[in-house]
Amino acid sequence: MKVLKFGGTSVGSAASIQTLLNILKGEVKNEVKPVVVLSAMGGVTNLLASMAEDAANGKEFTAQLAELERRHFEVVKTLLDVQNQNPAFTRLKIHFNQLEELLQGVLTLRELTPKTRDQVLSFGERCSTIMVSKIAAQHFTDVLYVDAADVIKTDSAFGNAKVNTELTELLIKTLHQENKDKILFVTGFIAGNDAGQTTTLGRGGSDYTAAIFGAALNAKEIQIWTDVNGMMTADPRMVKKAFSLTELTYTEAMELSYFGAKVIYPPTMIPAFLKKIPIVIKNTFEPEFEGTVIRHDCKASSLPIKGISSINNISILNLEGSGMVGKSGFSGRLFSLLAREQINIILITQSSSEHSITFAVQPQDTEKAKQLIEQEFELELLAKKLEHLVIEKNLAILAVVGENMKQTPGMSGKLFHALGRNGVNVRAIAQGSSEYNISVIISAQDLSKALNAVHDAFFVQLTKTLHAFCLGTGNIGKTLFAQLNAHTDYLKDNNGIQVKVAGISNTRKMTFNSDGISLDTWQTDIEASPYTADLKEFIEKMKAMNLPNCVFIDNTASPKPIEFYEDVFKANISVITCNKIGNSGSYAQYRTFKDTARRHGVDFFYETNVGAGLPIINTLKNLMNSGDRVQRIEAILSGTISFIFNNFKGDANFHDVVKEAQEKGYTEPDPRDDLSGKDFMRKMLILARDAGYAMEEADVEIESVLPKASLEAKSVDDFYATLKTEDAHFAKLKDQAEKDGKVLRYIGKLENGKVTITLQMVDENHPFYMLSGSDNIISFTTDRYKERPLVVKGPGAGAEVTAAGVFADLINLGAN
Ligand code: ADP
Ligand code: ASP
Ligand code: MG
Repeated sequence: MKVLKFGGTSVGSAASIQTLLNILKGEVKNEVKPVVVLSAMGGVTNLLASMAEDAANGKEFTAQLAELERRHFEVVKTLLDVQNQNPAFTRLKIHFNQLEELLQGVLTLRELTPKTRDQVLSFGERCSTIMVSKIAAQHFTDVLYVDAADVIKTDSAFGNAKVNTELTELLIKTLHQENKDKILFVTGFIAGNDAGQTTTLGRGGSDYTAAIFGAALNAKEIQIWTDVNGMMTADPRMVKKAFSLTELTYTEAMELSYFGAKVIYPPTMIPAFLKKIPIVIKNTFEPEFEGTVIRHDCKASSLPIKGISSINNISILNLEGSGMVGKSGFSGRLFSLLAREQINIILITQSSSEHSITFAVQPQDTEKAKQLIEQEFELELLAKKLEHLVIEKNLAILAVVGENMKQTPGMSGKLFHALGRNGVNVRAIAQGSSEYNISVIISAQDLSKALNAVHDAFFVQLTKTLHAFCLGTGNIGKTLFAQLNAHTDYLKDNNGIQVKVAGISNTRKMTFNSDGISLDTWQTDIEASPYTADLKEFIEKMKAMNLPNCVFIDNTASPKPIEFYEDVFKANISVITCNKIGNSGSYAQYRTFKDTARRHGVDFFYETNVGAGLPIINTLKNLMNSGDRVQRIEAILSGTISFIFNNFKGDANFHDVVKEAQEKGYTEPDPRDDLSGKDFMRKMLILARDAGYAMEEADVEIESVLPKASLEAKSVDDFYATLKTEDAHFAKLKDQAEKDGKVLRYIGKLENGKVTITLQMVDENHPFYMLSGSDNIISFTTDRYKERPLVVKGPGAGAEVTAAGVFADLINLGAN
């Protein structure tokens, strides 16, 4: 036979009870009748608890009582034929009257004992089970309502009573024997002591009731019908990517539920484990789902862990001092004291020096624990053998669980890498010696981010989500969004990465969405956004959203965002930038960026600072990381100047070539911004720094392409005029080069720690001779690439290639 337990949502409405009946019809076809265990209607136990508290505090409870009645009566009205309704109303009404009387007593006495509280709570399961059994009687013959208080016998620890297994099994067996032909409808959660008083098995305890019945009757299977697809890798309300597990062991299920996976109540596993009865967790709202099986002999799994669970509100107490070093019995004294007073200790860690003990409790137990400890260890505290107890609140426990952890090294490394990279501070750690579980205590505020980041880190078969906050919607920003949009599926399939743009700002407006701004409609979204642009606010909001795997992308050419980089790194957020102002500012600033990013375990990628999307920065980084040494770098890194000198030949005159370059959009509005060599200088400076030289702007020697008169011209028009008056100067250079069979090239060079940018005439043997159009070229001569340098060449400007470079940085970041 089978035991079927239906939880709060499964009996929470007429519609779900209808589904429950359909599920039962499938089972009742079998020879042996099932046992059905029911919870209170969803939310009812909480409502009863608050009514009891209210009454004890002198507050009225009539409105809540009426609501309770209404919910039950409505189901009766919907699901019972008219002629059957009255007996059901009467039975329920008797219970509501008893409840009212009980609460009236609490109100009068202003006292709520644990005993009375259990009695109040028991009405939830009693009423739901009466109601459902009455409805079931309309569909099945031989339905029997069973009040579990008559058969599950416990001690008198109200609120969390301990079961007398022997007696209970006997009573259940006898009951079942006498009613073999009936479907038993049993109240979950409640039990009774020897004195016939009602006790409860702890919140969520209906699952346990099912297991107690299952074990007593040697059931073939215990089914837990709930509102999700079985046991999942994490709570689906916290981690959207959580997925259902096919099977797990009793120990794994126990650990996951102990640390917060409330889909099953931890003690449930004990009776099932002892009798090796499989527990199947199924979904009332998706009955076709096969269910998660908790069993003894699971097949080998390829999953590194089975799941991540969490408890989101705990406090820790830390006790320190020489008084406990080497003192056997100290922790015994401490913990039996707390146990005596029914303070549940969720987790303990002790330093190996035995100098401190940290333990976690529910927040409501904190004060009591403190008082008890201060009394018990008064002498030690006075003698300063113990320090004063330190209490920390608003914390959470995150636990990763799985038997595979035992055989796999690097599991804790993975956990701490994911937490560290996301800036989650770990306050305490505990690993069971069984190695089934690693638990960490973190700030409650970081829990959602931590759960998602850790889930992404362990379940690599799922796509990893990066949350990008993008600054700048100019050519590069816009193009990046279009590229991301076009490659969403490719990225998912090939790189296992999903990029959600969680924030966008331009100079006017900004918009946010933690689920990702649509890359089809971002332009209208930002227009419609209520936020006016404010860089500081943008960054504060990005930090406050506290999303996992977060990256800040600066697609501007403005000096303003640079001021915030350090702050962003300190919030454990990576930075990708095509803005070269930051890295080409002072060397101290460049160093600060690098060091802060490293200290906080995040990335700082800026491939597009030099040569747009060409792999220049990464090539240099790889050379350096692999122990190579740069002897010389030679480069042409100005597309504009390349274009100009590639076209300045034959009959051409310099003025017309510059004009053409401008018309083609290759130059800045004032072409001198390019021709002055300033932009080139910035790129050379960044390369020199990445090659290991602590260099400043003033250390770069630039030979200007332009004569003094052109440089000093007041306006752009005046500047063009000087190109005509100075024509002889340019013509002379060109003629000289042509006469010698050479071409003019504006070349940056790093050698012996010195950077120069000069106008040179190179012959056909020079690798830069053949450069065409507006291409960039760079050659690295290193200890390894000595005979023939390593050369990178290609288009080094333009929105498409720059955005592609930013995109590539994003993919590299996703791999970390
Ligand atoms: P019932 O009333 O059916 O007993 P519960 O509310 O007690 O249901 O438990 C089901 C809930 O447990 C789910 O709705 C889900 O939000 C939560 N939960 C927490 N952790 C997990 C997990 N790892 N897998 C599935 N559900 C989980
Ligand atoms: N109704 C009880 C509770 O809410 C028991 C259960 O649902 O399992 O805690
Ligand atoms: Mg439950």
